[in-house]
Amino acid sequence: MKTYVIVGGVAGGAGTAARLRRLDEEARIILFERGEHISYANCGLPYYAGNKITERSRLFVVTAERFTEVFNVEVKTRHEVQSIHKEEQYVSVVDLQTNETFTQYYDTLVLSPGAAPVRPRIPGIDDPAIFSLRSVSDIDAIVQKLEESRVTRAVVVGGGFIGLEMAENLKERQMRVTLVEALDQVMNVIDYDMAAIVQQHMRDKGIELFLKDGVKSFEREKGELKVTLASGTVIETDMVILSIGVRPDTKIAHDAGLALGRNGAISVDAQFTTSDPHIKAVGDAIEYPSPFTKEPVTVPLAGPANKQARLVAESIVQGTCRPYSGTIATSIAKIFDLTAASTGMTGKQLAMHEIPYAEVLTHAGSHAGYYPNSLQLAVKILFDPTSGRIYGGQAVGYAGVDKRIDVLGAYVKKEGTIRDLADFEQAYAPPYSSAKDPLNMVGFIAENVVDGYSRVTTWDQLPALREQKALFLDVRTPEEFDLGSLPHAVNIPHTEIRSRLAEIPNDRPIVVFCAMGVRGYLAERILAQHGYTDIRNLMGGYKTWQAVTNELDAVEHPKNAHIALFTPSPGEEDGSPRAPQSDSIKLVDACGLQCPGPILTMKKTMDSMSQGDFLRVLATDPGFNRDVQSWSKLTGNRLVSLETKDGTIEAVLEKGPGSAVGKVSSSAPAAQNGASIIVFSNDMDRVLAAFVLANGAAATGRNVTMFFTFWGLTVLRTKRTGRVKKDFMGRMFNMMLPKGMDDLALSQINFGGIGPKLMKKRMKQKHVDQLRSMYTQARMAGVRMVACQMSMDIMGIPEAELLDGVEIGGVATYMEAASESGVNLFI
Ligand code: FAD
Repeated sequence: MKTYVIVGGVAGGAGTAARLRRLDEEARIILFERGEHISYANCGLPYYAGNKITERSRLFVVTAERFTEVFNVEVKTRHEVQSIHKEEQYVSVVDLQTNETFTQYYDTLVLSPGAAPVRPRIPGIDDPAIFSLRSVSDIDAIVQKLEESRVTRAVVVGGGFIGLEMAENLKERQMRVTLVEALDQVMNVIDYDMAAIVQQHMRDKGIELFLKDGVKSFEREKGELKVTLASGTVIETDMVILSIGVRPDTKIAHDAGLALGRNGAISVDAQFTTSDPHIKAVGDAIEYPSPFTKEPVTVPLAGPANKQARLVAESIVQGTCRPYSGTIATSIAKIFDLTAASTGMTGKQLAMHEIPYAEVLTHAGSHAGYYPNSLQLAVKILFDPTSGRIYGGQAVGYAGVDKRIDVLGAYVKKEGTIRDLADFEQAYAPPYSSAKDPLNMVGFIAENVVDGYSRVTTWDQLPALREQKALFLDVRTPEEFDLGSLPHAVNIPHTEIRSRLAEIPNDRPIVVFCAMGVRGYLAERILAQHGYTDIRNLMGGYKTWQAVTNELDAVEHPKNAHIALFTPSPGEEDGSPRAPQSDSIKLVDACGLQCPGPILTMKKTMDSMSQGDFLRVLATDPGFNRDVQSWSKLTGNRLVSLETKDGTIEAVLEKGPGSAVGKVSSSAPAAQNGASIIVFSNDMDRVLAAFVLANGAAATGRNVTMFFTFWGLTVLRTKRTGRVKKDFMGRMFNMMLPKGMDDLALSQINFGGIGPKLMKKRMKQKHVDQLRSMYTQARMAGVRMVACQMSMDIMGIPEAELLDGVEIGGVATYMEAASESGVNLFI
């Protein structure tokens, strides 16, 4: 009779034990698990925190007793294997309940100890309100904290899938959630253009994102937990979830002298044998060559661990198993209404390994657009430009992501090509797919590229093309063009290209683009067949470009990116929102339409309505969420409610007094309860006057915006300039301008700097607040401070040099504030 000893009782360990028993009824199988539970659903833990899984017992797939009963395995929970004695083939084990130590001999030892969350030595990391998540006891501790009454704010550090799942679930508990990620994007398993969609969705759901900004320290100050980021931003919070990755939990393997890889993972061969012939290993703790690069990789996912468990048991009992082929790391995550998934290699990984690749991306509907509830889906593939072999794929959308990624994963695993995708025969009926599935579409586009019918370009290549004086040709309709386009683009709708060829030069590169890529391709083909040779179609069209540039901007100006969530504006005189009567409400179903379809359809219906009528709009284009908020503000219509459920956005609007719907209303749209002050001067006395007025206006209940431009911008400077790199002019301005509000001179009787000192003394005598305390009062009263972007650029003042809490904005920001203000001052 053989004795098999297993270390670790979850995915890899329990799976191995069960399969061993199915193959060998005689063997003695002993499973040691350090924790209290075996076979628990660690993938379900975040959903327990968010009350999606309400019963704690549902987290346990099987109890130790039941496992013993079914599989005749000796399950020893609360037992830790402390050391491996490979020459003598035994392990030393401590019973964590009694503290007794004993030895256990084995014929074969299987290690499945998993991976532990990384906890770097950041100052303050041992604060009791900083949690990691790996096990049931971890989630118990988190839930206990969440149930304390004062806990309303959380910072999640790390934008991998566990971090995102935790952010969502904490938000579901109505918490204020901030996510901090050191990289410039969340979900590093997808490329930037796909992650941008995820990030926009998270922001729309009210998650504050700080990207490209790591945690520098944690501190307690007067009982408050503060997270300080590398940028200097300080976030106050009640708790922190740390999920910045995992590291193989392999101390016992290391101490036993087993061969380990670079990050401490156990090296195994295709039979999962370690450097010792009697010891096998599976799961998160191992490394194995990637099927693409042949370099060892660790892939901490449940699917591979379970499949490895099945194989290793065969290898042990039968002496050999089907050789393990490695994992392509197919993964998926739910982020509120959105799903994001990936398989194989990303563009970033391919570039890092210097593997030549091409990529195509398309935005499509999850099923036929004319059938209800067709939702947005973006699919991207990466492939060998010569052979067409698919290296990887990514999908982000509101429905149908899982089946697309699974099909892509199957092709990637089997070394399928783009031709296979073009040929792929999906099950089609309108509720499920389209006659040409999004996967067929990416296959077709890739074929066009490989066969020379199309040349695509990506958002990140546009600056280089602009340098080459490329013409950016927007082939969408004029209405779409009016709602926004690439800078300096020229608009010729694709249907007019043939008749307007004379307007299109053929001595410079041309970048054609439409909303998503299809009309761009049509235009590209027309131009190519009329002798134009240097044409490129922008992949993913304006939609991808817009998502990416919004996100790039948000990373640079995180304070601006945190959009205020929609709050209904008052409709009745008593301030309560006027609710529509259900029989008087019109409906526009714009589901399945891409931007600007929903806005245009909505506008058309609004045009035919009278003031005070209500309109309900349903749309599935995610951009509609933001568009409808701006559109209603600009046109003087009232947005009564705005909700998103399962990818469908529902907006209710009341038609306002503005006569020309679709044009910026000349009359103020809402009650003019604001006050806006342009602070142009940096004279101390003038700035004081501005703050006196701002605080006074705020005290009377007005919404006050102070817009600091030109010299006034220097009021918002801080002395944190050390790490800011400036050009020559920037350095000149830096030398000449005041370093902040404490450094201002008087407009009159300045007396070479003595004047301000006298003034401050006089103010103190007369019990008048100093400028700095007026500034603090203004902040506390909710006065909005906006720094003028253009002035910042001219004077070389970067965001890092501004006081915390200052927004950055341009004329549009000021105009929006001014249009809601009954008082406008220029100081
Ligand atoms: P584990 O499941 O971690 O099990 C290892 C066990 O070994 C642990 O219970 C540990 O206590 C025990 N152990 C370690 N050392 C010893 C010792 N010396 N003596 C005794 N016992 C020991 N993957 C997905 O594919 N999809 C998901 O959605 C997903 N969600 C996740 C969510 C969370 C919160 C977490 C933590 C993980 C998630 N994963 C997910 C990853 C997945 O759970 C792991 O890849 C998988 O569990 C790995 O299995 P394993 O057996 O290698 O390690």
